Amino acid sequence: MATPETTRAPRILLVEDEEKTRASIREGMVLEGWIVTEAADGGEASRLLKAGGFDLCVLDRMLPGRDGIELLGQLRGGGDATPVLMLTARGTLNDRLQGLDGGADDYLTKPFAFAELIARCRALLRRSDRNPPRILRCGDLQLDTRARVAVRAGREIALTPREVDVLEYFMLNQGHTVSREMLERDVWKQPRRLTSLDNVIDVQIMRLRKKVDAEGEPSLIRTERGVGYRIGEPGA
Ligand code: CA
Repeated sequence: MATPETTRAPRILLVEDEEKTRASIREGMVLEGWIVTEAADGGEASRLLKAGGFDLCVLDRMLPGRDGIELLGQLRGGGDATPVLMLTARGTLNDRLQGLDGGADDYLTKPFAFAELIARCRALLRRSDRNPPRILRCGDLQLDTRARVAVRAGREIALTPREVDVLEYFMLNQGHTVSREMLERDVWKQPRRLTSLDNVIDVQIMRLRKKVDAEGEPSLIRTERGVGYRIGEPGA
């Protein structure tokens, strides 16, 4: 399977005191090819962060000793801009705002689907990457993320800016299911709307798919019924 070009493996600091949760997150991240350093409490995390070199910190909100919010405050107060994804067992609005106000780049409430955690991490890594992959590939489809041009089997595909955004998001999450909620939050950037964007998203993706999969070409974008969408090489 084609994978996006990367310059080096991302380094992740995973701060979570609950051993089982930490081990399972770590395992999944390692499968992604990421380099994971673990910390079980705020003090250890603080020491590791001072040493620097992390592309992303996944930070549990509730930690023994120094909690996640406190640690985050210390980090940002010291001018450290390492992207932080905060995890919390609590989902109250107040908690969420505290995390984001405190300088977290994103926020995920437990329990979460592992695919969603990885997708959010990828989005943060991509944002912070100083050398983002320029060419993303899936089978005979190529997307130039800077020129924002898609080509399939030598045929240039005319896409709207939104379609490029959606295609880029699919390709970065190649081989993984992308839910409508993920698209709503990360591409449409409208989380927690009162009215769902599901129909808008479905229509948009139907159009994109018609352009990407020309007549006679194997379908790259597939519907995962009731779950979302997935891009991948035919048969993958
Ligand atoms: Ca915890």
